[in-house]
Amino acid sequence: MKKRLIEQSQKHLVNTYTRFPVVLVKGKGCRVWDIDDRQYLDFASGIAVNNLGHCHPRVVKAIQAQARKLLHVSNLYYIEPQIELARLLTANSFADRVFFGNSGSEANEAAIKLARKYGNEILGGKYELITTYESFHGRTIATVSATGQKKFHAGFQPLLPGFKFIPFNDLKSARAAISPKTCALMVEPIQGEGGVNLPSDNYLKGLRKLCREKGILLIYDEVQVGMGRTGRLFAYENYGAPPDIMTLAKSLGGGVAIGAMLTTEEIARCFTPGSHASTFGGNPLATAAGVAAVSAILEEGVLENCRRMGEYLCTKLTGLKDQFDFIKEIRGKGLMIGMELEFAGAEIVNRCLEKGLLINCTAGKVLRFIPPLIVTKREIDKAIKIFTQVLTEI
Ligand code: PLP
Repeated sequence: MKKRLIEQSQKHLVNTYTRFPVVLVKGKGCRVWDIDDRQYLDFASGIAVNNLGHCHPRVVKAIQAQARKLLHVSNLYYIEPQIELARLLTANSFADRVFFGNSGSEANEAAIKLARKYGNEILGGKYELITTYESFHGRTIATVSATGQKKFHAGFQPLLPGFKFIPFNDLKSARAAISPKTCALMVEPIQGEGGVNLPSDNYLKGLRKLCREKGILLIYDEVQVGMGRTGRLFAYENYGAPPDIMTLAKSLGGGVAIGAMLTTEEIARCFTPGSHASTFGGNPLATAAGVAAVSAILEEGVLENCRRMGEYLCTKLTGLKDQFDFIKEIRGKGLMIGMELEFAGAEIVNRCLEKGLLINCTAGKVLRFIPPLIVTKREIDKAIKIFTQVLTEI
């Protein structure tokens, strides 16, 4: 069965992913099962999507109830759960208004378009965006153009003009890069795909101050680090520097596709009926799942658990550094933890999978540990046991 599915996948799907030879069919909490009923501990969370674990009961219940009631209507009408999700997100953030799409890339597209509209209308024709090297903002042509990694640009030139890159964590470069054409600066508060790179002290505060001084917008891409991943609902809360625009996706829908762009009243005014749209954006099913997911994060001690388990996991991983000299550094916030190695991490990821632990590797040498935020000490201990065995063998 597994062999046949893999063969069919290789025959019928466009070959855009390097896949592990595993067909996952079932999930519960921090565990998933493959088609042969083998169990895995999931410390990859569908790349920071399953923050509430797999099939969280509250999310499943909300999806079932909404599916019975109303799956889709267009944005030509008012949509109950969409309004409630926007209320929840604005009540718990810097923002006053929300635009919904279906993915992180779409959320960032909306942010880029809004920044340009603001630049045109309020800043007198400014259009340029500054982003950072090693950033990742998505795979559409605008978000690939915004992404500061050459490997994602290859073969897609000419890219969208109007993007400029600066080194992450370098305030001087940020100041120097701002030109009379700049309308916004966009960063991930913690770079995810770039290798779990944390902002240095006062970097985000410095960017906040600089953008205010220059009258340009500060955009945070919290697609990966938002929704509780760092132990706060939004990563920026850890750094005391709110943005003007923020994007969310991944775990916002508890496993259902959704994206969101949040902003202030003043900036949102640049979008008027017809400026931007999405057929499925904010649809009843996705937003009902979103309401359940956000409510669960806020009401079920998820953030507290993330902070406690984040510290526990970080301490355990740091302990391994003394044992294995090829571990260069452990860094992270909450349950977004990276382990930088002296060599490529792919082999370790493969061996962990063979032993029933899902992790992933980013930027070549950085193993990424992003378990569900509901993870327990026991599950962390089990993961560490498997991981230590693999490191011993390698
Ligand atoms: N922004 C960040 C920071 C991401 O990590 C990702 C995906 O990994 C994206 C944007 C793109 O999101 P999506 O794949 O949902 O389009």
